[in-house]
Amino acid sequence: GARAEGPARYRFHTDAMALAIRERVDMESLLRHAIERNQFALQYQPRVELASGAVLGVEALVRWRHPVLGLVPPARFIPLAEETGLIDDIDMWVLDEACTRASAWRAQGLPPLRVSVNLSARQFQQAGLAQRVQAALEKSGLPPGCLEIEITESTVMRDTAEAASVLRSLKALGVALSIDDFGTGYSSLSYLKRFPIDVLKIDRSFISDVTVDANDAAITRAIIALAHTLNLEAVAEGVETAEQVAFLRENGCDEIQGYYFSPPVWPEQIEELLDRGAGTDVPLRTTA
Ligand code: C2E
Ligand code: MG
Ligand code: MG
Ligand code: MG
Repeated sequence: GARAEGPARYRFHTDAMALAIRERVDMESLLRHAIERNQFALQYQPRVELASGAVLGVEALVRWRHPVLGLVPPARFIPLAEETGLIDDIDMWVLDEACTRASAWRAQGLPPLRVSVNLSARQFQQAGLAQRVQAALEKSGLPPGCLEIEITESTVMRDTAEAASVLRSLKALGVALSIDDFGTGYSSLSYLKRFPIDVLKIDRSFISDVTVDANDAAITRAIIALAHTLNLEAVAEGVETAEQVAFLRENGCDEIQGYYFSPPVWPEQIEELLDRGAGTDVPLRTTA
């Protein structure tokens, strides 16, 4: 009867809640140990210049290799890492690792590449960020121009005055700066003009239907035009099809990144890809 159901349902809910909390706590403690246990690794996704077909850069994307959980994608641990502050150590490990790798690639004589890293909002607000980036450059010997830092549109628009000052301190080092996931936030265009940025990365959500949805097509064209008006490069994220490539080429987009050319891959595969010679328009069929 109703009497028995009430408490039973209540218990069900608390059990589910207890389980969720346990899982979170377990996940947090696993994550806490992940750095010291050397469980993070970087995959790199090529960015291709449309005019030449050349790979000009790669984006470093973090993965958590857990002995039981397997290869954990960032969407499954970055939010928790941000809540707990563990993201600070993760992002700094990523920065060091990416700079070291890019510097080794230069030493090996691979074609020049710019490596980009993602910074969380938390990291972006941290005092001493520019010094930390400079330390990573010095430690690795990577020329500043070979590093690009990606900050999401929502992060820079949170506090535009503060963001402008952080961006200037990073720019002073000589690194390139890009606004990631552009078009999903609420940009103040007047601020955008004052930010010392180099690249707008058009969010994947506009690209996925760009050839079938007139609104997405219009927004994508507008972002490309905006980028060029401000003397920035436009990079399309999440490009998967030849039709999307054709649209972006016709509309003057500078670079593409996406499964069409290559998914994120391990460093050895980047070396193979570049050894084989950039300048190919043939999609790479690798599995990550
Ligand atoms: P993001 O910086 O916008 O990176 C692009 C994401 O889109 C990557 O997901 C990439 O694998 C995925 N992607 C690339 N091409 C395609 C495509 O053609 N189709 C589809 N469906 N997806 C594509 P990933 O690696 O899972 O990373 C997700 C997000 O996690 C990143 O988005 C970034 O915001 C964050 N992230 C990754 N690495 C780091 C890091 O080291 N630090 C911080 N703070 N965030 C990171
Ligand atoms: Mg990114
Ligand atoms: Mg993005
Ligand atoms: Mg994103």
